[in-house]
Amino acid sequence: MGNSEDKRRAAAKCDRCGEIGIVQLWPDGSVQPLGQPDFCDCESSELQVLETDFDPDEYP
Ligand SMILES: [Zn+2]
Repeated sequence: MGNSEDKRRAAAKCDRCGEIGIVQLWPDGSVQPLGQPDFCDCESSELQVLETDFDPDEYP
């Protein structure tokens, strides 16, 4: 735990189904769903990063 210096969280939305969730942004630019293997049920999610460095407390 506490090993997230190089990773950033962001809110992201799937352009296909509209699912909104939290993703992890890696230094190499890749995006990974946070806490789940798949962001949504789409075969190939078209993730759009909405906001970086958001406050998790404000997210439901
Ligand atoms: Zn989707």
